[in-house]
Amino acid sequence: MTATISRTDAAVPAASPADGTVDVLIVGAGPYGLSTCAFLRNHGLRVRIFGHTMQSWKAHMPKGMNLKSAPAASNLAAPQPGHSLADYCAEAGLPVLTGVDPVPIGVFTDYGLWFAERMVPDVEAVEVRGIERRPGGFVVTTGLGERIDAGAVIVASGLIGHAYVPPSLSALAGKANAGLEQAGPGARPVSHSSEHTDMAAFAGREVVVVGAGQSALESAALLAESGALPVVVARRPSVVFADAPDPDLRGVGRVVDRRHIVPKPLSPLGPGLSLYACAHGAAAFRHLPGRARLELVARILGPSGAWWLRDRVDGVVPILEEHRVVGGTVVGDRIALKVQGPGGIARTIRADHLLAATGYRIGPGAFPFLAPEIRSRLARRGGWPVLGADFESSVPGLYFVGFPAAGAFGPLMRFVCGTTFAAPRAAAGVAAKTRAYRRRVW
Ligand SMILES: Cc1cc2nc3c(=O)[nH]c(=O)nc-3n(C[C@H](O)[C@H](O)[C@H](O)COP(=O)(O)OP(=O)(O)OC[C@H]3O[C@@H](n4cnc5c(N)ncnc54)[C@H](O)[C@@H]3O)c2cc1C
Repeated sequence: MTATISRTDAAVPAASPADGTVDVLIVGAGPYGLSTCAFLRNHGLRVRIFGHTMQSWKAHMPKGMNLKSAPAASNLAAPQPGHSLADYCAEAGLPVLTGVDPVPIGVFTDYGLWFAERMVPDVEAVEVRGIERRPGGFVVTTGLGERIDAGAVIVASGLIGHAYVPPSLSALAGKANAGLEQAGPGARPVSHSSEHTDMAAFAGREVVVVGAGQSALESAALLAESGALPVVVARRPSVVFADAPDPDLRGVGRVVDRRHIVPKPLSPLGPGLSLYACAHGAAAFRHLPGRARLELVARILGPSGAWWLRDRVDGVVPILEEHRVVGGTVVGDRIALKVQGPGGIARTIRADHLLAATGYRIGPGAFPFLAPEIRSRLARRGGWPVLGADFESSVPGLYFVGFPAAGAFGPLMRFVCGTTFAAPRAAAGVAAKTRAYRRRVW
C-alpha cells in the first residue's frame, strides 16, 4: 500500500484534463484563484482552474481608478520569489511603484495577467455552472457542458456576484429599470458601481451617487473628471478620508504630546493597531466569538476614501452628508430620489442616473452554482460560510477563499494582500487531505 502511495504522489502530473478527473477544481481566476492554484501545483496536485483571468478588474471597475492598497500590499502570493508587483514593473520597464505611490488599475490588471501567464498559464475561460456532490468529491458542470470529477473544489469567485443594493433603492431600481434589463448599465436609470468600466459614458449627465466608501467617492471623482455632474448622498454624518501616510512609512504613531504617542504600526491594511491585528492575526480572528467577528468585519475598514482622493472630491463634488434615502420615483427617464437629512428635513434630488455604490454582502442566494443539497448543508453565520483553519467549509472538500472567507478570517480576506495568508494555507490543507484520501482509496 505505502509503495503505491509514494508512486502515485510522485507521478501526479500538473493537470489531467484528458480524463476529466482532477484533485482540485478552482472556481475563479482572480488574485485568490491564481495564487491558490500556484500553491496547489507546488504540492504536486492535479488542478483545473476556471474563470476569466482578472475579470473583476477588467470588467467591473472603472478605467482611471487607482487601488486603495499601497504597492507593497498589492502582491499576489506565489510559492517562488520573483512574482511581485515590483518584479512585474521592473520586467515590463515601468517605474517600480513603492511607498505610498498610487497603483493604477491598468498596471495592477496587467500584473495579474503576467502572474497568470507565468504561474497558471492554463486558466480555462469558462464559467462553472453547477457543483454537485458525489461519493468522495464533486461533479462540476461547466458552461461548455463538460462534467468533471474533482476531489475538492475551491470557490474563489470574488465579490462581484455579491453586489448589494439596499431595500430603499432596490424597489426604485426594479421600477426604473423595468424593460431595460438587456440595456447597458449606463442606459438604465439605476445601476450598481460594479457594473461600470467607463465613467465617460455619463458625460453631461446628472448622476446621484449613493454611498460613502472608496467606490462611491472614487466614482464621483471619475464622473466629475469625465464631464458628468455627480452629487454624493451619504448616510454618515461626515465623509471620511484616510490621513496621508507618513512618507517614510515609519509607522511610529500619532504624537499627542511629548510623553504620549498613540502607536500606529504599519500593516498591509494600513496604519493603526486594529488594522495591524487584522493583517497579522487572521488565524486568531477565527477563534473570536461569532458575534464579535461579524461586528469587526462590518466595522473595520468601514466606508472611507483613500488619502489621495480627498483633493479630487472635497470642494469638487457636492456631498449631502447624514442623508438617508427614503424613497424615489421615475419621472420620464429621470430619477427623483427622496432623501431625509438632519432634523428629518426631506428633499428631492433629480438626476439622469442613480449609481448605487453600496458595497457587497453575501445574501441567501449567493453561490448559485452550488447544488441545493450543498447549499443546505453549508453552515453559515451572518451569511458567511463557516470555515476551518484550512478554509474548508462544513461540506467536506469544499473550500472558500477571498471575500467569502472574511467572516472567518477577517477583513484581510477582502484584499489582495490576504492571498499571502490564504493561498498557502488552503493549498496545504487540500494537499494533506488529498494525500490522506488517496491512502485510504489505494
Ligand atoms: C471598486 C473596487 C476596488 C477595489 N480595490 C482594491 C484595492 O485597492 N486593493 C485590494 O487589495 N482589493 C481591492 N478590491 C477588492 C478586490 O476585488 C479583491 O481584493 C480581489 O479582486 C479579490 O480577488 P478574488 O480572486 O477573490 O476575486 P476576483 O478578483 O473578483 O475574481 C473572481 C474570479 O472568479 C471568476 N468567477 C466568478 N464566478 C465564476 C463562475 N461561476 N465560474 C467560473 N469563474 C467564476 C471571475 O471570472 C474571476 O476570474 C477592490 C474591489 C472593488 C470592487
